[in-house]
Amino acid sequence: MLFKREKFERHVSLKKVVLDSILSYCQMKHPNEGILILKGKSKQGNILVEGLVIPPFNFSGPSSAGFPHSFLPFDMSYVGSVHSHPSGSANPSVTDLHNFFGLVSLIVQSPYHDDDIFAWDSNGNPIKLTIV
Ligand SMILES: [Zn+2]
Repeated sequence: MLFKREKFERHVSLKKVVLDSILSYCQMKHPNEGILILKGKSKQGNILVEGLVIPPFNFSGPSSAGFPHSFLPFDMSYVGSVHSHPSGSANPSVTDLHNFFGLVSLIVQSPYHDDDIFAWDSNGNPIKLTIV
């Protein structure tokens, strides 16, 4: 097989204020999962997360959180989603990959400290995450 396109590496930059909001939201939702939509912009694989949106009609329980994608307005500033794993593992589940939304999925593991957040692509591969 030929791959003509250059392999481009995705990279996520997350604003510190956004990280703080995510962590406190996850703590508030514990022991249930919390889920939020990431707002920002992306350019050539570089994703900058600048804000959060609470999804309308979201549901959450101890092992699942989600929102019906069809209810979302089409908005180019939605770059992905973030949700928490109260069980303490930040690895994406099969369900997470099936419900992948946008360009990046951030997962926060319990106990929701600054270094408990990880970024994944739609194949479940890790993406480099930097707090800015
Ligand atoms: Zn999950």
